[in-house]
Amino acid sequence: MRYYNIPIFVPHEGCPFQCVFCNQKRITGSDTSVTPEIVTKTIEEYLSTIPCGNRRIEAAFFGGSFTGISAEKQESLLKAAYEFVKNGKIDGIRLSTRPDYISEEILDRLLQYGVTTVELGVQSMDDAVLIASGRGHTAETVENAVKLIKKYPFNLGLQMMIGLPEDTKEKSIKTAEKIIDLAPDFVRIYPTLVLKDTYLEKLYNTGEYEAWSVEKTVDTLKEILPMFSKKCIEVIRVALAVTEEISPENALIAGPFHPAIRELAEGEIYFDKICGFLDKDSSKRVFSVNECEISKAVGNGKKNIKRIKEKYGFEIKIKPSKSLKKGEITAWKDEQDCI
Ligand code: SF4
Repeated sequence: MRYYNIPIFVPHEGCPFQCVFCNQKRITGSDTSVTPEIVTKTIEEYLSTIPCGNRRIEAAFFGGSFTGISAEKQESLLKAAYEFVKNGKIDGIRLSTRPDYISEEILDRLLQYGVTTVELGVQSMDDAVLIASGRGHTAETVENAVKLIKKYPFNLGLQMMIGLPEDTKEKSIKTAEKIIDLAPDFVRIYPTLVLKDTYLEKLYNTGEYEAWSVEKTVDTLKEILPMFSKKCIEVIRVALAVTEEISPENALIAGPFHPAIRELAEGEIYFDKICGFLDKDSSKRVFSVNECEISKAVGNGKKNIKRIKEKYGFEIKIKPSKSLKKGEITAWKDEQDCI
């Protein structure tokens, strides 16, 4: 089954807040107000490009705080998308919003118009981080919103950020723990970037905010990613999309900008696993991993192979396996042993 999202950006609409990191226009590449006509046109255009077959398609209202828009506008936008659900052309509707814009009345409306997935911007479960980031809600607000959403048949996604003002690696790990306790269906993790025309840019320029490095971000991600996978909570995205709007040449001022930051973190996770095997039994020379994960295990530019050689004085080989799941690894003495 292939999954397709038809993105409909709702830039900053309905949001009276100004989170320090947020420049919705830059992130969505749009500051145009969305109308039901735009919703219909966007869905039609995307549908004409999506190949037939075993597929699941959802219209996705992203970018702002959807449930903070006026009830009339929410209804008109949802109605336009719901027409496509009713005639079987798409399978559902997803949207992202803030935890303080969740109530029974709001959730009843979403259900009535075929919404299948609700994503909440949690960002942190540490109140000091939330205050310093200008979020305007607390960790308790998140817990209450999640409790309410779970009374409905929605898929629940939670978004967290790492490297916000006042954040530390330990606080990010605590946030991940608390998010796991809330048992979402999936999560997204966004490392904090300093974008042009945000309050964070001012804090960065005055030295009040220190952007995280790629190394610190990777070091934090390598702790957090396995926590979610152990609990079978899928991390569907790490980092913002690299677009023309957010690039070192454009709106990006500072922060752990790397197009493959997740792969870097997963490479580190494999490095630690290989070292774990070798520390117990240094006779192992061949390691099998899922066939799609070879490049992660080998590391960027064969980094892991080189580091193992430096650390243990011998070269190892990484072999593809069809039977191992992603993230699993087995060790062998030589290639004959390896099946
Ligand atoms: S709540 Fe969302 S849309 Fe509003 S300022 Fe914060 S990040 Fe931007």
